[in-house]
Amino acid sequence: MDPIEKLSQLFKEFPGIGPRQARRFTYFLMTKNKGYTDELIRLIGSISKEVTTCSKCYRFFPITSRTDVKECSICRDTHRDATFLMIVSKDVDMDAIERSKAYQGLYFVLGGNVPILDKNPETKIRSRELSDRITQDITTGTLQEIVLSLNATTEGEHTADFVRALIKPLIEKSAQPIKITVLGRGLSTGTELEYSDSETIKSALSGRK
Ligand SMILES: [Zn+2]
Repeated sequence: MDPIEKLSQLFKEFPGIGPRQARRFTYFLMTKNKGYTDELIRLIGSISKEVTTCSKCYRFFPITSRTDVKECSICRDTHRDATFLMIVSKDVDMDAIERSKAYQGLYFVLGGNVPILDKNPETKIRSRELSDRITQDITTGTLQEIVLSLNATTEGEHTADFVRALIKPLIEKSAQPIKITVLGRGLSTGTELEYSDSETIKSALSGRK
């Protein structure tokens, strides 16, 4: 396979990128100067060594000079409201919520969605990690509300149903009641959180039920 084709094949695997866009990326790189491509190569090569997943919410975050830091800045922030736990599919969804500045609680990143009719749904998201996290939060007794913030798509709704079924038996064991809420439909059907503007997210959050 020629190098243009090879590189385009790699770009094609990026989310939302089709074969034509992938080729456009490849040609674009050929027009850039060496400084740009060297920086790109360096960053791609080092990102897995400079970024890690938070041991609590599982989002990606830059490794600090202190190797004992296992939790991200949000999880370590004592000003965040630990009575709320928001469950999102991906890091980009969490970024969108943070940009809206409408939410002050904590997070859990599932790492994906559960495809419809999937044979092993529990393997498509961080099911075990989520169960552990909620069990832990119940033990500390701080948690009062779990907010399901998933895409308003068929797959997002399917994921929400799966997560609800997974966590329900856990929260039933809690000594104090824990509510499960979902974002209000300020998000119209088919909407992906990562593309929602801050105002939409704000109204979806205040309209949660
Ligand atoms: Zn975290």
